[in-house]
Order: sequence, then C-alpha cells, then structure tokens
Amino acid sequence: MVHIRNTFIDSIGNTPLIKLKAASELTGCNIYGKAEFMNPGGSVKDRAALSLLQDAQEKKLISKGGIVVEGTAGNTGIGLGLIGNSLGYKTIIVMNDNQTQEKKDTIKNLGAELRLVPAKPYKDENNFVKIAGRLADELRPTNNNGVVWANQFDNVANAKGHYIGTGKEIWEQTEGKVDGFVCSSGTGGTISGVSNALKEKNKNVKICLSDPKGSALYSYIKNGELKSEGGSITEGIGSSRITKNFENAKIDDAYSIDDHEALPILYDLIKNEGLSLGTSCGINIAGAIRLGKELGPGKTIVTILCDKSDKYNSKMFNKSFLMEKNLPVPSWL
Ligand code: PMP
Repeated sequence: MVHIRNTFIDSIGNTPLIKLKAASELTGCNIYGKAEFMNPGGSVKDRAALSLLQDAQEKKLISKGGIVVEGTAGNTGIGLGLIGNSLGYKTIIVMNDNQTQEKKDTIKNLGAELRLVPAKPYKDENNFVKIAGRLADELRPTNNNGVVWANQFDNVANAKGHYIGTGKEIWEQTEGKVDGFVCSSGTGGTISGVSNALKEKNKNVKICLSDPKGSALYSYIKNGELKSEGGSITEGIGSSRITKNFENAKIDDAYSIDDHEALPILYDLIKNEGLSLGTSCGINIAGAIRLGKELGPGKTIVTILCDKSDKYNSKMFNKSFLMEKNLPVPSWL
C-alpha cells in the first residue's frame, strides 16, 4: 500500500465500498455503496474530469496555459477546475442557473470562471452543453496552448475512466461476487464504464438504471421511447437524450424513482448510519433496494455514492423549499 502520493491527482479513485446497513437488512442482501464522495473534489466526477483531461493531453490538444471549457451540473466543473489548477490550465464552466448555490460557489472559489445560463432543453441552441461547445470554438484561435471542450456527455473518455477505475475496482473489491449494479445516469459515463467492466468479467451481473422522475431514460430502457413525466429536485442525473457515453452502456433493466422514495433513504442514512449523501445517491440506493428485493436474499449489490449532502444544503435541508414541493422533511428540522 502506497501512502504518499505525489500530487492530489493520484488520490482520485480507489474509493472504499461501504455496506449500507438499513438497505441490506431490508432486502437480506449485501448492498454496498462505492464511496465516490471521498474523491478529492468530493464526487464521482473527479474520475471523469481526470480521464477527459488525460484524453486531451494524449491527443496533444492542450498544454500548460491552455483553457478547458465545459458544460456541467457542477461536479465535473469542480473536478476539472481542481485538476486544471494543478496542471496549469484555466477552466471555464458553463452551468445552468438553477443548480445549487453551493456548487456555484465551490466552482468560483477554486478560481474557475463560472458562466451561468438559463436552463434550456438539449434541442435548444442555447442549452448549456451547446453554449460550452461554441465558447470553446470561439476561444480556440486566441490561445496557442490549446482550448479544449471536455464534452463529458459525448466524449467516451468519460466512460473509459469508469471502465478502468470504478468498474474494475468494484469487481476486485467484491472478489468477483457481485450480482447486481445499480446507478443513475447523467452523462452515462459511470453506468457505461462500470457495466462494461463488470459484464466483461461476468455477463450475468445484472445492471439496472435508477432514473429520477423527469428523465426520459427509464422509458427508453423499458420500451425504446424517450418519454418523461414529473420532476425531481436531484441534480446531475436524468436525461432527455441518449449520449455517446450512455449508448455504450450494457443495461438489463430500469427503475423510475420518485423523490418521495429517495429522500427518506437519505435522511435515514444521516440519522442512523452517519452517512450524509447528495440527492442522486437517494435515487441510486432506492434502485439498489428494488433490485435487492427482486434478486432475493443473499445477493451482493453495488451502487454509487456520488457526492455528499453539503452541496445541496439549500434544497435537502430547506424546510420551506421541501414543504412547498410536498416533499418529506427531515424529522430534526
Ligand atoms: N450524481 C451526481 C451528483 C452527479 O453530479 C453526476 C454527474 N452529472 C451523476 C450522479 C451522474 O454520473 P454520470 O455523469 O457518470 O452519469
């Protein structure tokens, strides 16, 4: 075991699996969460950010003094900003203005440039992803060290980071005894990389998408139609389209999870297990519980603990916000 790392980049990945007690007891399964919140930028997206930047370096698209532009729900921006700082890149983040203030502040406070834009659907020319792509094109002639659009949604270097990291680690940590893997999808990088890594080892590992309301991916997996209904306060997950990363995922089944099912799981975890997790984790763990009930006792199921609740204080612990939406409120608020 190497304890000293030369840069913080070397501490991305190799996260532990944590047994989720209540979820395991409820199902009779061993349900483990991969503690991605322990990455240095605080989320699963550090892996994607690193892999996207390594891809740009390998393709000689950027060198010290260059600029990285990206459209993100926040976590990828945090990862890119931190790694970019350590490599001498400037980072420009384009983000929807409806994301939490906590994520906006984190991005600004690490020295990245933050451009907030009104949330628009992907088909709109002013969708944040498309704005980021155009901005990189506009800036490219102005910088000799390279201007890169990380393009996490459609650059499969994202999924590669999870294939060589997250997925391989889950296989090794469970000593190949994993029966199921469940997670949500934003870019699709995690579910694509992990599903390919696990299925390559054992095609019988069941892979399930856990999709929030308002996303069209559940209906796509169930009947091939991109259709959505309802909404969710979760951030960073759900999609109205099939990204290049998602396209390669090997998914057997899907669950559609309501915030009413996801939030109590998160509040119980804080109160009873000392785990304080972000909103997408609620969707993931709810899906893992559903799969556990389906597969029956004795199985091993893994999900992703993407980030911590501290990025969502203004939503998860905001009593009037929750009550306005008729959502459950933690008992201690
Ligand atoms: N949870 C959170 C909190 C995220 O920020 C993201 C990334 N947008 C995801 C889950 C989804 O991960 P992926 O992009 O790999 O599908």
